[in-house]
Amino acid sequence: MSYATTYPYTGEVLATFPSATDAEVVAAIDAAHAAFQSWRETSFAARGAILQKAADLLRADVEGYAKLLTLEMGKLFTEAKAEVELSAKIFEYYVHHAERLLQPQTLEVADPAEGAAMIVHDPLGIILAIEPWNFPYYQIARIIAPQLSAGNTVLLKHASNVPQSAAVFEKLMRDAGLPKGAFTNLYATRAQVEMIIRDPRVHGVALTGSEDAGAIVASQAGMALKKSTMELGGADAFVVLADADMEKTVNWAVFGRHWNGGQVCVSSKRMIVVDAVYDQFLDRYREGVAGLVAGDPFDPKTTLAPLSSQGAADEIRDKVRRAVANGAKAEQVGPPVPNHGAFVQPTILTDIGEDNPARYWEFFGPISMLFRAKDEADAVRIANDSPFGLGGSVFTTDVAHGVEVAKKISTGMVFVNHPTKVEADLPFGGVRRSGYGRELLGLGLKEFVNHKLIDVV
Ligand code: NAP
Repeated sequence: MSYATTYPYTGEVLATFPSATDAEVVAAIDAAHAAFQSWRETSFAARGAILQKAADLLRADVEGYAKLLTLEMGKLFTEAKAEVELSAKIFEYYVHHAERLLQPQTLEVADPAEGAAMIVHDPLGIILAIEPWNFPYYQIARIIAPQLSAGNTVLLKHASNVPQSAAVFEKLMRDAGLPKGAFTNLYATRAQVEMIIRDPRVHGVALTGSEDAGAIVASQAGMALKKSTMELGGADAFVVLADADMEKTVNWAVFGRHWNGGQVCVSSKRMIVVDAVYDQFLDRYREGVAGLVAGDPFDPKTTLAPLSSQGAADEIRDKVRRAVANGAKAEQVGPPVPNHGAFVQPTILTDIGEDNPARYWEFFGPISMLFRAKDEADAVRIANDSPFGLGGSVFTTDVAHGVEVAKKISTGMVFVNHPTKVEADLPFGGVRRSGYGRELLGLGLKEFVNHKLIDVV
């Protein structure tokens, strides 16, 4: 495993970094443990001041921070700037809400004469965060803002293709005043990840990434009897009902499938359209996708980014070939994408039968799966016929009815008239093979705390 920055638009290797030594890993655990002893006692006000400073520093140089995201994983510069702002907002969410959300909770006891009881939320200690490359800053902010607010300290193993984003975030937190050791980035190897999980001073692991990585790391955490949260893959359903506003719906479908180069766990990966409007949707969707402009991610006119790496592009093309070999139809859409860099031609897959294994895969790029549903009930059935259970959406002009349909979709998040979205003030997480646990809000804040009972008799 080697850490390197390779610009996906050109394929140029811009920087490489050696993996951590075992001695560095041990020193980082020592430092995180030492920092925990005082950080756990630090007031909410003092923790909040550091997070606020981090948000302010991000906003003071949005373009500088954003540039690195584009260079490391190829996302559009406009989207990179939005990610910097989203990270700042996540910090601010906890500045404003952490203390209230972690207030001791007084329990209602049957007989007050017998005493009083309360639950306090104590931090656990060091938490290991393993994060993916698709939102290099947001993924870090999403774990460190709640964990640091709760009084835990954090070790980070980021994806090997975004080493500079990881280092920059570590520096950001130090510049914001975070004590040394409270948040440390490590260019850790897989063996070192296991070593960290086994260390008795480490009390939990939060992973965002693929099912394969999740299964391995969750089993390592299980062997060590440590709590884990898993934010894994997704294949969000984008359900279109007969009364949907077709223009808005198609615009959101094109965006929902293609933002961030189509590499979002909650991309709208499966368009499930009722028969009555399927042909109309397909015609307009094809037109919308054909209008995407693939090119230089720094050019504001570009609307389709390259994938994060040549390997990712090769892998998704191979998956399309296998989907077709199993009976699907693949239609390449739009003008040819550039013949350099990690671009993949937008492709619409149809006729993906129930015996086609591709029906149940996650395509992490600009590949859309379209399904014709007989009616609304059939659309819900198809939506729920997935190993994943992350997000999803329902499009209809009858919002109250949309909520009823949303209740029938078996995922962690469902949006009416919007692709699954990511906000600082909404919780995030899924069920089934999309993982377990929640990030953000009070739910994320309380994933790695000891809900300790204090009973006074
Ligand atoms: P990945 O290969 O699983 O990598 C994610 C992270 O896990 C990276 O830091 C990676 O390190 C590390 N990793 C992989 N195997 C490991 C192992 N055996 N032991 C320890 N660490 C290991 O994921 P990806 O393919 O880069 O990312 C895309 C996936 O993430 C998609 O499935 C996507 O849906 C999912 N995702 C989910 C969410 C969510 O919130 N649910 C959000 C974003 C992405 P290396 O880079 O060094 O291999």
